[in-house]
Amino acid sequence: MADKLAPYRGKRSAKRTPEPVPAPGPLPRGHDDTFVIQEHHARALHWDFRLERGGVLVSWAVPKGLPLDPKDNRLAVHTEDHPLEYASFEGGIPEGEYGAGRVTVWDRGRYECEKWTDDEVKVVLHGERVQGRYVLIHTRGTQWLVHRMDAAPADRAPLPELVRPMLATLGELPPAAQDGRYGYELKWDGVRAIVYAEGGRVRALTRNDLDVTAGYPELRAFGEALGSTSAVFDGELIAFDAAGRVSFGALQQRMHLQDAARVRRLSAQTPVTYVLFDLLHLDGRDTTRLPYRERRELLEGLALSGPHWDTPPYTEGGGPRLLETSREQGLEGVMAKLLDAPYEPGRRSRAWIKVKNLRTQEVVVVGWRPGQGNRADTVGSLLLALPEADGLHYAGSVGTGFTRQMLDDLRTRLSKLERKGSPLAGAPPTRDVKDAHWVSPKLVGEVRFTEWTRDGRLRHPAWRGLRPDKSPQNVARES
Ligand code: MN
Repeated sequence: MADKLAPYRGKRSAKRTPEPVPAPGPLPRGHDDTFVIQEHHARALHWDFRLERGGVLVSWAVPKGLPLDPKDNRLAVHTEDHPLEYASFEGGIPEGEYGAGRVTVWDRGRYECEKWTDDEVKVVLHGERVQGRYVLIHTRGTQWLVHRMDAAPADRAPLPELVRPMLATLGELPPAAQDGRYGYELKWDGVRAIVYAEGGRVRALTRNDLDVTAGYPELRAFGEALGSTSAVFDGELIAFDAAGRVSFGALQQRMHLQDAARVRRLSAQTPVTYVLFDLLHLDGRDTTRLPYRERRELLEGLALSGPHWDTPPYTEGGGPRLLETSREQGLEGVMAKLLDAPYEPGRRSRAWIKVKNLRTQEVVVVGWRPGQGNRADTVGSLLLALPEADGLHYAGSVGTGFTRQMLDDLRTRLSKLERKGSPLAGAPPTRDVKDAHWVSPKLVGEVRFTEWTRDGRLRHPAWRGLRPDKSPQNVARES
């Protein structure tokens, strides 16, 4: 009979790997009833699923791990038989060796075999983490599908596909007598992102449901660090300027990328950090109905902190002090969140108050005017509007706060949106618009400003950047 472990030995040198490499010889005899699942942080994270059979561990590499939900079929790649001793192997396979990376036992236990042919294997697993009936079906080559046959545990909620972020109301710090009812966080000046993690992979969606996963490759390592934890997080993607300060400007260049090579280059040059502040789902449990304090406790229990992600602490009470800190550090402000309030997906709620050091407003770009002097060939100012019930209303123009790169980028974008007449409801304001180029109201941007004038214009606005994560129809006056 052929040596079943020859392919296994052929890929390894006993001198260079800590994995067991038994000498050729007769195979041990077992009861064909043990299984192991090993988490393997190799070049790509996967889970190795091994069933004892005929003196070896018959093995599949499952990139996302065994599914817990019967609706979720997953790929399993058949790999070489492993020796029985491998069932208890944990350790690091050195760089340069086959399967280099860390291996840990994720689960093990007994299994019952219901069917075993060349193309179909049906088993019932009795592990500590996995209990259930599974079938592996051969599709082609080394590829199989693994499918759960019995129902997932009744109390287990599947990972939701879309949870819209809860939004805060702009306001002031709660009165002193109420201070203790709130949890306070620093407010991060970046892009809101809901991150869905399952099977070591993550997906990131912005406020307008845009999938930006490919634009932020830093999140890959976050997914791998989460291992088999399935969860939905709420947080903010932020970037830092040369002085190490959180900078919305620095993040701007990361916000519009499509091209993979540019994404790679810029993620090395201006890396982002995902700042986690809420937990909406954890391992089969919807956590949105839990009070803020309990969600934070669960989140902090995960101790998520790494090169490109972090969970900054919050404080219970002490709003004025934290607001002061945020001013000193040049941060945007603080968030005050009612400690006993649930998460309200997609709603702007009074349970969350944003207190800003800086007044900002989202705006819809409705046109532009050419510049003068060294800006004669490009944008001089942008014409801004806010949607109201009867259409877009003019909100003033902004001519400062741009970098040359922003202007060139805007010029390109605006030329594609050019249209004949003004998109404003009613007549355009005459003074500002003699040489206006009107555009379709597709671009959303953000300005800082000092106050609203009586006729609803922004006073002293300065451009902060485009907001591709926001939709024109959702732009609203904040205060
Ligand atoms: Mn492996």
